[in-house]
Amino acid sequence: MNKIVFGVDVGGTTVKLGVFTADGTVIEKWEIPTRTEESGSHILPDVAESILRKIDEMGYDKENIIGVGIGTPGPVQPNGVVRRAVNLGWGYMNLVEILENLVGLPVKAGNDANVAALGEMWKGGGQGFSDIVAVTLGTGVGGGVIVQGKLVAGATGSGGEIGHINVEENEEEACGCGCKGCLEQYSSATGVVRLARKRLAMDDKPSMLREGELSARSIWDAVKAGDEVAIEVAERFGHYLGKCLAGVAAVVNPEAIVVGGGMSKAGEIMFEYIKPAYQRFSFHATKDVQFKLAQLGNDAGIYGAAKLVIGDK
Ligand SMILES: [Zn+2]
Repeated sequence: MNKIVFGVDVGGTTVKLGVFTADGTVIEKWEIPTRTEESGSHILPDVAESILRKIDEMGYDKENIIGVGIGTPGPVQPNGVVRRAVNLGWGYMNLVEILENLVGLPVKAGNDANVAALGEMWKGGGQGFSDIVAVTLGTGVGGGVIVQGKLVAGATGSGGEIGHINVEENEEEACGCGCKGCLEQYSSATGVVRLARKRLAMDDKPSMLREGELSARSIWDAVKAGDEVAIEVAERFGHYLGKCLAGVAAVVNPEAIVVGGGMSKAGEIMFEYIKPAYQRFSFHATKDVQFKLAQLGNDAGIYGAAKLVIGDK
């Protein structure tokens, strides 16, 4: 009997689960709701119940199961401790210990963006590389750094928090983290909308963006249509992101930078705006990095979680 492994990605509204073979072929994937009520105390028991039911359905013995990997929002310390995950209602707890007790299998846990980066390296846009930086451009900017095949989670599980690197000293508005001038205030999907709104308020220059609802999608559509105001917004987005990634590259020297998240649906055109700043600000020996689009979409988390527990096996 081939060994199997579970990958779990806990989001604010749904928990995604997947069961994989050890070489990373997905056997089945499904979702359950994230019950955040009562301080999120049902989430892990729900996950455990769903996994145990699936094991039963599939007729597997526990000895043929490698374990359960799980990605959750917010920092996860290497020992499995989560101090706080606001959108799940969680306070201080040892996530790994609790889930191991519930499922009776080995458990490995990590931050969701870190885990997604691992998934992309294993089976997505970062395949074939062992040193990557992944950025997820969604509501915020998530990040994951992988050096020689290993995730850099850091001392408190905050490794790869690229979205909270300061890129602008003269910012008046605060980021969700409390600081002012974080990358995600400019280069996330919400960040580009904010940049566009500010740009539109500056003058009356005609733009497609003045009609209809402003969204990351409408901005990139306008860029593709040659809209000058939208292009200015894209240039600022790319300036901040490219410069920031040049700094990250000087530290970890990746082979590839994998860009994912909802906004990456805009496609390769984003790279035309990120690369000039990257080239301008990067150290000479890091300049030939490859920019790649993420490929796994919302499944990156379950793939990466599975890989987390497989390790180098
Ligand atoms: Zn921040």
